[in-house]
Amino acid sequence: MYASNTGARQGLSRMSQDKGLLIVYTGSGKGKTTCALGTAFRAVGQGLRVLMVQFIKGSWHYGELDAAKMLGDDKMEILPMGRGFVKVGGAETNPEDVRMCEEAWTFALAQIQSQKYDLVVLDEINYVISYHMLDPGKVVAALTARPEHVHVICTGRNAHPALVEAADLVTEMREVKHPYTKGILAQRGIDY
Ligand code: ATP
Ligand code: MG
Repeated sequence: MYASNTGARQGLSRMSQDKGLLIVYTGSGKGKTTCALGTAFRAVGQGLRVLMVQFIKGSWHYGELDAAKMLGDDKMEILPMGRGFVKVGGAETNPEDVRMCEEAWTFALAQIQSQKYDLVVLDEINYVISYHMLDPGKVVAALTARPEHVHVICTGRNAHPALVEAADLVTEMREVKHPYTKGILAQRGIDY
């Protein structure tokens, strides 16, 4: 669990505009990637350019890939850059997965630094950091030094404490109920 900063927010509701935020959506409840997508949808409506880099490619064809195409590449791009691996407890980390993570990170950082985008989502980056496929110190240092106006959202379970510390906004999704526990499988349009 992470400490709340509600108290610190009081009196700070009108700070300067156009400050790029470092945002983290973590926790084991459902809603991290979809929260990032909701923010992306809002940002597109405000004329912001959005990129989502997916560090882990899912096994389904996700609806958001087609929805982003409907919006247009000049507004929102989603790039699946992982291999779709699921790490099973105890298994060795595959060097090929590490290489692909590094490649995705190098690419994503270059896009952040290019200032071509106003919002960059690093989907499931928390997951790959927690499995030691990316160095947290390196990621946090680079994100902290990013161009000032660029918003970055990092999603995934088990956000690293150093990233939580560096972030401006951290929300932890907590599972209250999930249909999976009743044996209800992933639903089209809701889960993928
Ligand atoms: P979503 O993409 O729906 O916002 P998420 O990003 O919070 O989910 P992930 O950890 O990325 O969650 O898991 C992706 C998939 O696992 C989704 O299909 C999601 O519905 C499912 N999922 C998420 N949380 C849970 C949970 N607590 N129990 C079972 N399945 C879950
Ligand atoms: Mg997710």
